[in-house]
Amino acid sequence: MTEHPQIRPLIDADTIAARVAELGAEITRDYAGKDLLVVGILSGSFVFMADLVRRIELPLRVDFMAVSSYGDGTKSSGVVRILKDLNREIHDRHVLLVEDIVDTGLTLHYLLDNLSTREPLSLGVCTLLDKREARIRDVPLNYVGFPCPDAFVVGYGLDAAGLHRNVPYIGVLEQDGASS
Ligand code: 5GP
Repeated sequence: MTEHPQIRPLIDADTIAARVAELGAEITRDYAGKDLLVVGILSGSFVFMADLVRRIELPLRVDFMAVSSYGDGTKSSGVVRILKDLNREIHDRHVLLVEDIVDTGLTLHYLLDNLSTREPLSLGVCTLLDKREARIRDVPLNYVGFPCPDAFVVGYGLDAAGLHRNVPYIGVLEQDGASS
């Protein structure tokens, strides 16, 4: 794998691909015969979303939401602004939200609250990473790729100040040569 000196590898690309295939197979089983809409939360989920939907062997639709969380830049405050809403109504669909990482849970809690008022047939969550130790708000996670340590991770869609989204593996961003 390409080395990035400030990123300490945590989950390599092959391991990610194998887990994404397992998640896709589970989702395929669970949503068979249902009208599925997969909703990616931008921007962090875009790489995961692209790989995951290709592992779901069902007819499905995709849509995206973009949200920004007011906070100090590293931690979310729970006050979420919708930058881009869904293109279509969801009241007649089974909705599966796809997140890159659930940290405090505040963003996802807001999203679940907001989307449930639109009365979808069901509302599930698939997250690539679960930073459970950092949780402030308990949120239901139906599919989890990997547990994640309470450190700042980048790669496979996740950024630091806009960078590192194209790194093909997930790693911990080391700050000043030390582990963060
Ligand atoms: P929460 O509201 O659960 O605290 O935060 C969720 C969002 O914060 C994620 O969707 C992600 O955009 C960002 N986030 C939380 N932890 C990390 C991390 O370790 N690395 C990166 N790149 N983003 C994170």
